Amino acid sequence: MSKKNENRAPKQSFAMINRNYWRMFFKVVRLSPTFAIGGFLVEGVLWGINRVVNMYFTLHLFNAIDEGKPLSELLRIILYVAIWQICFQLVDKIYFQIMRPILHYRLNYNIHKELFEKAKTLDISCYDDPEFYNDFVWSMEESSERAIRVIENINKMARAAVAFFAAIAALATADTDAVVIVVLCAMGVIGCVVNHVGNKVSYMARKERTPLYRKQSYINRAYHLPDYAKEIRLSRADELLVREADENNDELVRVGQKYGVKYFLLYGLFNNVLMEVASLGITFYMFICLLRGSIQLGTFAASVGIVWQVRHSISEFVERLAKFPEHSLFLEKYYGFLSYEPKVVSGEREVDSLRSLELKNVSFSYDFSSNPKYRWHKADHVVRTVEGGKDALTGVSLKIEKGEKIAIVGYNGAGKTTLIKLLMRLYDPTDGEVVYNGRPLPEYRLDEYRDKIGCVFQDFKLFDASIAENVMGGDYDAERDGERVKEALCAAGFSDKLATLSAGIDTHLGCEFSEGGINLSGGEGQKVAIARVFARPYELWIMDEPSSALDPVAEYELNQSILEHAKDKTVIFISHRLSTTRMADRIYMFDSGRLIEAGSHEELMQTDGKYAEMFRLQAEKYK
Ligand code: ADP
Repeated sequence: MSKKNENRAPKQSFAMINRNYWRMFFKVVRLSPTFAIGGFLVEGVLWGINRVVNMYFTLHLFNAIDEGKPLSELLRIILYVAIWQICFQLVDKIYFQIMRPILHYRLNYNIHKELFEKAKTLDISCYDDPEFYNDFVWSMEESSERAIRVIENINKMARAAVAFFAAIAALATADTDAVVIVVLCAMGVIGCVVNHVGNKVSYMARKERTPLYRKQSYINRAYHLPDYAKEIRLSRADELLVREADENNDELVRVGQKYGVKYFLLYGLFNNVLMEVASLGITFYMFICLLRGSIQLGTFAASVGIVWQVRHSISEFVERLAKFPEHSLFLEKYYGFLSYEPKVVSGEREVDSLRSLELKNVSFSYDFSSNPKYRWHKADHVVRTVEGGKDALTGVSLKIEKGEKIAIVGYNGAGKTTLIKLLMRLYDPTDGEVVYNGRPLPEYRLDEYRDKIGCVFQDFKLFDASIAENVMGGDYDAERDGERVKEALCAAGFSDKLATLSAGIDTHLGCEFSEGGINLSGGEGQKVAIARVFARPYELWIMDEPSSALDPVAEYELNQSILEHAKDKTVIFISHRLSTTRMADRIYMFDSGRLIEAGSHEELMQTDGKYAEMFRLQAEKYK
């Protein structure tokens, strides 16, 4: 694509812009009718009428003075306007200061709730795709604000239209020369053209600024998130970040200057000078008419306000109109995100107890461009293209029977975690199939299937909630589950730490929202994550490096605990520590995405292959 085209806003048809806009408008009407209709009546109609009232007030007051009307008549006009102003201000303040913030929160929450629901159904592959992920983050961050701005836009356009037509009508009814009305309309047209050009300039400016803002936000995060605090103090990352921040800032200043000059030439010089000349011209022309006696004093006085009114209404209307494509661009992505159809879909079959789980000649690649199944949103967009696109797993066949303890071993990048993801049906294989109790896994109900699996990921996450809630999740009930949580924590080796906590399992983890919250060490956190598996009657336990953050004693105890509690369970664990794998019934050794060896520890040692080599290397280190 040429540089010129790159900077252009994507072309959107008028129909598309309209469809996106009204779709959002009616969504807000559905989610919060008071917000949409109340806003339209107050911000649009009432404000528009207020401008008209002020205009007519000037017209009538000055005409009354000109016609030599008695003081009582003048006071009556002033009284009517005062009553109107008091009522208007009252309604305006009640709406903006009391009602609008509340309606705003509700609307915001309803829009986000819908996004949360959608986010839960997304395929994990969506998180691997930067383009989709950007749209997702953008939708999460901006949707409610955009919804409000769409409504505001419509209201302000209504306000500007009411004020514009009322101003023209006021001039027409006050016998103003047609020349004035023609010049005012011409100002409207010029305003439209200037705004159209200005809109393109704004788009280009935003496009140049967006990556710079992102970088700035990344650097800001690095300084305020606790995750980075240690590195920044102890490594030389600080220098790197400051240098990046300086360069980024210089670039922002350059972009600011470049577009500042463009804005000045377009709006400051061209538009302002032209509009000023036209406004002064009209005022001068009206003054001549007044001197000639062809118009009244009121018409002259009002015309000064009306010219300003028309100018303001035009620029407000056009400015709002110019926002349509920008909002529509966002809305297109937002609706694209909402209409995303998950590719890993649930089957209908009820999930019976696990008897066997089998991989039949399974291959998997994160290069989704080769997999039409992962096309989304627009027909020509593919989730992600990984350069080189090598398979993470190639032709893997293995079978796990109920009650077996299986160890998956291999060096980094061998495909172990990918295998686990396929077993949990976070992805479907690119080739081959996963078979549960003799039937293809996609035939089964997905939620029910995942409910049978307790999984501890290597990069487990704890939430800002109590220990008990972290173990049991949202349906934790203190009375029903308290004992179970304690037993699970004990089985995971957390009992010593628990004894030191005065609030016990109700201790809050994390200090972000709770003053009494605590932070756990890596190993302690891992134990809480492991307790999740012990706490529920899962049939299959999957543990990805469950002891990576544990010391050797804790690791030994955990292994004993797993053996004790998992007698009737099927257990699959990934471990680098081959001392752990000795307790497995069968070991699968992976290398570069391929299953290269399978058997018990003794069998693999006898084979004297890669596993034996790896085991000896580790044993060497322990000596
Ligand atoms: P292991 O768990 O054995 O360390 P993984 O299964 O995590 O290995 O990774 C296997 C291969 O797949 C690696 O080459 C890795 O770079 C690649 N990979 C893993 N996750 C992703 C991902 N989300 N996107 C692209 N490639 C990935």
